Amino acid sequence: MTDQTITLALSKGRIFEETLPLLKAAGIEVTEDPEKSRKLILPTSDPQIRVVIVRASDVPTYVQYGAADFGVAGKDVLLEHGGEGLYQPIDLHIAKCRMSVAVHSGFDYANAVRQGARLRVATKYVQVAREHFAEKGVHVDLIKLYGSMELGPLVGLSDAIVDLVSTGSTLRANNLVEVEHIMDISARLVVNRAALKLKREKLQSIIDAFDRASRSEK
Ligand code: ATP
Ligand code: MG
Repeated sequence: MTDQTITLALSKGRIFEETLPLLKAAGIEVTEDPEKSRKLILPTSDPQIRVVIVRASDVPTYVQYGAADFGVAGKDVLLEHGGEGLYQPIDLHIAKCRMSVAVHSGFDYANAVRQGARLRVATKYVQVAREHFAEKGVHVDLIKLYGSMELGPLVGLSDAIVDLVSTGSTLRANNLVEVEHIMDISARLVVNRAALKLKREKLQSIIDAFDRASRSEK
């Protein structure tokens, strides 16, 4: 590996799948399937470019420390991370969903909020949730979870959840209803600041190709 090797951090699943067409537009093909391979470093058709497979929430961390030159992460993940050390992300218009507040269908959310009582909110997105309820002037006890947020209101852990919703079928299957839409979410390209200076030429051409291709996803 020369020091001009470029490393892209991606998470398995929808981010990986939806980034493939953007890579293709940049003339890059990932030559191994992360769902079939156990390898965490995947080669590409360009010997100077490799892909590392990390947890979705770890993508900004790899890029921040320069272990990856750039990466693709959801706006949800970037807001929780804080974006330190990352170059201004571009919106790739992929992995779209929304961040919402949901409650059990029998729970009177409007009334609970009006009464000024403390609301118990379970979520993976404590930063976004804290800001959202602070803006509304609603007092909340935040309970940090790492997954399966939908279970919270069903077993009495919380009154509400803050979670990502796309079709709403997971909410429906668990007898939950969406009561507030906090923000729209999509995946962003984040770049290590130092890498952008040191490997400008090659990185910039990939960034431009991603940008062009992603405009057609809009
Ligand atoms: P992990 O599975 O490692 O705990 P994760 O659940 O955040 O992490 P994914 O489910 O692959 O990982 O989600 C990756 C990104 O895709 C999220 O950060 C978000 O931006 C987006 N995303 C999550 N859920 C949805 C959804 N239902 N529809 C569309 N995009 C989504
Ligand atoms: Mg997931």
